[in-house]
Amino acid sequence: MALSPSFQPVLERIAADIAAAPGRGRPADYIPALAEADPRRFGMAVAEPDGTVYGVGDWQQPFSAQSITKVFTLALVLSLEGEALWEHVGREPSGNPFNSLVQLEYEHGIPRNPFINAGALVVTDRLHTLTGDACGTLREFMRAESGCPGLAFDERVAASESASGDRNAALAHFMASYRHITNPVPELLSQYFRQCALEASCADLARAAGFLARHGIRADGSALLTRIEAKRVNAVMLTCGTYDAAGDFAYRVGLPGKSGVGGGIIAVVPGRCSLCVWSPGLDERGNSVAGVAALDRFTTLTGLSVF
Ligand code: GLN
Repeated sequence: MALSPSFQPVLERIAADIAAAPGRGRPADYIPALAEADPRRFGMAVAEPDGTVYGVGDWQQPFSAQSITKVFTLALVLSLEGEALWEHVGREPSGNPFNSLVQLEYEHGIPRNPFINAGALVVTDRLHTLTGDACGTLREFMRAESGCPGLAFDERVAASESASGDRNAALAHFMASYRHITNPVPELLSQYFRQCALEASCADLARAAGFLARHGIRADGSALLTRIEAKRVNAVMLTCGTYDAAGDFAYRVGLPGKSGVGGGIIAVVPGRCSLCVWSPGLDERGNSVAGVAALDRFTTLTGLSVF
């Protein structure tokens, strides 16, 4: 088998293309602490299955991971309780914004998928029930997989979101009325806001997503997920990871991906590499404008895609 070529030249070329592109979108402003981010920032990292990382631009700059953490909490819950999770949350694209309330009542309080906020609240509730400490479990996992022992939550971002978190509170209370949430809602919300406020760089997140490129195998060689479970997490990322833009993301990028309103996106080429790109300017659906463009360039230039 040929040695894989370095990803460095392709990353340099993408960074040059992005620097020359005009539109960058706007940082999320519904969480006040995120509104301060500079949309001109751009970083990208690619991690090979052995942990080798290539990067460009602001690839070592920590940012707010936000909904990217939903992939990791989902994987942790699947590793702990397997298929039982799907009694509490679906796995169909919602076609609605990530923080939408409308579907929940029609569908009896069962969220469409684990990557919209309602579904992620259910997953965090499961993780908290199963471990007694959802955020602590997530933090230890992220530290181990990224190889960065200092990874932590930005309590200022968590407090900022908590102070403006009425929509997530509404989702959680509504689901609690159906008994789909087992922890007290204030405790669940505090876990969820902290989880979203994880600070990590492109290098950290690309490495931490490596288990999805290694078909479920963690950085230390142990199995978090079976090969089939890893396939399933990747499949849900492909169909639901970028909300009501998942079709367009699949069309342009052709990879499982998960975005966050901090401007990060992780993506996976199963068997080959895991990626993370960051640029805080978002489109109207909450996905990083330069991030999607960079992943589009990556799969176009390398031919690496699941299709
Ligand atoms: N913390 C954000 C929220 O709950 C996460 C959303 C996102 O990144 N898409 O609204």
